[in-house]
Amino acid sequence: MENKSILIIGAGALGSVFLENSRGMFKKVGIFDGDIVSKSNLLTQPFYSGCDFSSPISKTSFAVGKMSSLDSSTEYQGYERYFTESDFRIMKEYDIIADFTDNVKSRLTINEGCIREGKPAVFASLNDKEGFLYFYEGNACFNCLFRNSIGRVKEGCESMISAPEKEFITFLMESVSEFVSGGIKGSEIRVFNLANKKILKSTVKRDPECEACARHTSNSLGNGFIQICSSGIKFSYGKGIDLGVLSGRLSGSKLYGEYLVYNKGNKSMLVSLEGDFLFSGYSKSEAEELIHSFLA
Ligand SMILES: [Zn+2]
Repeated sequence: MENKSILIIGAGALGSVFLENSRGMFKKVGIFDGDIVSKSNLLTQPFYSGCDFSSPISKTSFAVGKMSSLDSSTEYQGYERYFTESDFRIMKEYDIIADFTDNVKSRLTINEGCIREGKPAVFASLNDKEGFLYFYEGNACFNCLFRNSIGRVKEGCESMISAPEKEFITFLMESVSEFVSGGIKGSEIRVFNLANKKILKSTVKRDPECEACARHTSNSLGNGFIQICSSGIKFSYGKGIDLGVLSGRLSGSKLYGEYLVYNKGNKSMLVSLEGDFLFSGYSKSEAEELIHSFLA
């Protein structure tokens, strides 16, 4: 395990506790967070208590400095920003991804990246009743779980009023170690009940309808990549599109400079010269059908 690398996304209550307890466990540790350390963090994130607040410092920068001084055998690399799609390429440099963010939107982005880059991942959250871990390794993804259990996957740290307790930290560190060393195969949920300290284990099946990992999305659109986001369905072709030709094929479409707009009833499609498509009101299969017809 000491020869593995891990990318930690989110250095808040959970991420900072994991970092502090993972000394010497990894060859290289990446830390992603865009937050500045604030005094209000100290209650739930004692990791930052050495911060002097004389000038603003990011959690990432503080964490890299602190961990490097505590653990000279590990290489710590910081990324002082929030993780977005343009950071998927950074995942390539690590063996395992650890999601310690506290909102579902970030989790779904991270999940997307792990599927694309083929990286195993652990998704962790903690609220005042339970700690939750989900292990992904190429089968059922976080979205397979999430889309079937709306309301059951709770947002993390917002309801936390104190730092994670010792028993939970032990559960977290032991479970992640087990995963990193191959003892957990993925598609597994572990829930730690903070009241009675009991651990519930369960496995998740891949959802064939999953927007994020369903097989038919992976190769059928050439080099392009389709994804569901809050504004609709996005597809990136990966290269430029001749909008004049496309407009000729699509009666009723209009060209506006670098964009083509197509409206039909309550459905609309926007295509950019650069090859980005945005569909609103379309189902995923309708959008795929349209893309196929254009790219044929
Ligand atoms: Zn999935």
